[in-house]
Amino acid sequence: MCGIVGIVDAGGVSFPLYYALYALQHRGQESAGISTFEGTTLYTHKAQGLVAEVFNSQTLQDLRGNAGIGHVRYPTTGSKVPENVQPFNFRYRGLDLSIAHNGNLVNTVELREEYERRGQIFCTTTDTEIIGNIIADALRTSKSMEDAVLLCMRRLRGSYATVALLNNTVYAFRDPLGIKPLCIGKLDNGYIVASESVAIDALDGTFVRDVRPGELVRIDESGLTSVQVATANRRAYCIFEYIYFARADSVMDGTLVYDVRRRIGQKLYDARPIEADAVCPVPDSGIAYAAGYAKQSGIPFLEGLMKNRYMGRTFIMPTQQQRERAVRIKLNTVRGNLKDKRVVLIDDSIVRGTTSRRIVNMIRDAGAEEIHLRVGSPPIIAPCYLGVDMPTRTELIASGKEVEAVRRSVGATSLTYIPLEDLVEAIGCGERNLCTGCLTGCYPVEINGEKSCHCVVDYVAGTHQSDLSTFRAGKEET
Ligand code: AMP
Repeated sequence: MCGIVGIVDAGGVSFPLYYALYALQHRGQESAGISTFEGTTLYTHKAQGLVAEVFNSQTLQDLRGNAGIGHVRYPTTGSKVPENVQPFNFRYRGLDLSIAHNGNLVNTVELREEYERRGQIFCTTTDTEIIGNIIADALRTSKSMEDAVLLCMRRLRGSYATVALLNNTVYAFRDPLGIKPLCIGKLDNGYIVASESVAIDALDGTFVRDVRPGELVRIDESGLTSVQVATANRRAYCIFEYIYFARADSVMDGTLVYDVRRRIGQKLYDARPIEADAVCPVPDSGIAYAAGYAKQSGIPFLEGLMKNRYMGRTFIMPTQQQRERAVRIKLNTVRGNLKDKRVVLIDDSIVRGTTSRRIVNMIRDAGAEEIHLRVGSPPIIAPCYLGVDMPTRTELIASGKEVEAVRRSVGATSLTYIPLEDLVEAIGCGERNLCTGCLTGCYPVEINGEKSCHCVVDYVAGTHQSDLSTFRAGKEET
């Protein structure tokens, strides 16, 4: 999972890109990077660490120009090594290409072998480098980015929301099923594309719309145009974005994420009404769910856990005992809100179960009489191959286990997950338009050894790779 952004703005882009990445920090804390272009020079600064650790005012001033892209990384493919930090740059014959990607390809190995056989040398272990190589290779013969992206989309299998900087033009494209989010905003003197609308808000911009699945957007100093490169017979928006990953204040494919989570909370109460004294969220991701549950049930919303907001990624403890203690620094109980109470505890998801087990123990230690765990996702039973860092089946607590066995394992008085049909209804776009791979084990793209649901993708430009007249092109309305 990663966050991406691309901006063209007559007032310079390095600071806006930095603020946008700040707004997307929740999508990746492992590394951050920005590329910009001015005159004939591509400027890049990137490193491991949080956005605030990677950049300072000097590095931002050195990133010159009115067009650029940025990335925050949460490693899903490729190890945590400095050479995997994005954006990646490709230079040849007077063209500078920089590229950043959110998602995960499932045919990386085949593509890499094919390109290596043709003499291509890879410097990293990421799938993003493959996307860059296919585009750069196609640009060598065609010089048209639109043709290159068409060729690229025909080869890639998996999820890819991508931003690319080709000299001083920003391109952005989304896979034909729209698995990963990407949206467009208008700024005072230009345009922005970003993984989530919160990045547009951070720059005081105006949300325009989502990038359509299979669409290629082009932004330069004269404005924004787009072409539809591929169309599919369905969409497959990542359901886990709504459950956990996206910020609650983001509007994603037409829906405010906070509203989805609040509706799930309401449905969680209706699925199994109980009597209790307090509705407590697991902060921060459980808050919107708990607000909905409290409203529907009439049970008071009461914070039983407080999160220390200043504990960064770098808080690493060497021993198990110290790590256990660190959990108490990260999360503490509000004893007065829990003692002798029947508590409904609300979290977004249970993955391995370790977090829930620890939290249930803490709440019991604080004196709660009953702990009714309510979960905003159905049981997660299968891994994600399309961009969410999810463990293997053996590590997933709900894989091959009944709900009662999970309840016993985490130590709750009762446990209820949201049923899939209620979750789908809360999101509102229909199951056919969602990727539910982690909840059903059925994926919208073909994956070796897994079940896949049938999708048909049609490439609008057909075989005319160098003839753009067959594209449905048009100037974007603002
Ligand atoms: P656990 O059950 O111990 O694996 O932890 C699950 C909790 O971690 C959930 O309540 C989420 O808030 C959070 N979470 C879920 N998925 C992820 C993920 N892919 N990366 C990081 N945190 C996650």
